[in-house]
Amino acid sequence: MIREIITYPNKLLKVKSKKVECFDQEIHTLLDDMYETMISKNGIGLASVQIGEPLDILIINLPNKDDKQLKEDLVEVINPKIIQTKGTTLYTEGCLSVPEYYEDVERAQWIEVEYQDRDGNLINCEYDDLMAIAFQHECDHLNGELFIEKLSYLKRKKFEKEWKKKIKGKK
Ligand SMILES: [Zn+2]
Repeated sequence: MIREIITYPNKLLKVKSKKVECFDQEIHTLLDDMYETMISKNGIGLASVQIGEPLDILIINLPNKDDKQLKEDLVEVINPKIIQTKGTTLYTEGCLSVPEYYEDVERAQWIEVEYQDRDGNLINCEYDDLMAIAFQHECDHLNGELFIEKLSYLKRKKFEKEWKKKIKGKK
C-alpha cells in the first residue's frame, strides 16, 4: 500500500526511532509499504519514520549500471549501526520529506555497518560512494535528523525563507 510521506517541518521527523524487537508480519507489511511508497515517488531511500512509523527501519534501492531501479537490488535495513567510517565525499542530496530541494552534503565515503534483515538475521557489510551516502542519510532520519541540518548557517537561512514561501504558495 502506498502511504503518505510526511514532510518538513512535521515534528514527527524529529522523533528518535525505536529498535525493532519482533520481526513479524507487521514489519514485513511495513517494509512492503515503504517500498511501494518510495518507488511511487521515484526515491532511492526511505526511513519508516517518513511514513509516520518511528522504527529503526530503512530501505535503499539504488539504480544499477544501466540506470534501472530493480527490486532485486533493494536493501532492507533494520536496527542499523554504523561501526566504522573512512574518508569524506560531497554529494548533492535530496529527501522525499523535503521535496524539490537539493544541496551538497559532506559525508563519509566508506562505512562498515551492521544491521538485521526482515527475518532478524544479522548482517555485516561494507558500503562506499552513493550506497554509503544513502545509508548515512537514512540513518540520520532514525536519529530524528534531516540533511538540511547539515547545511551552513547561511544556506539554512536561505532554505527556511524559500521553504516558508513554498508552503504558503501551496495553501
Ligand atoms: Zn531523507
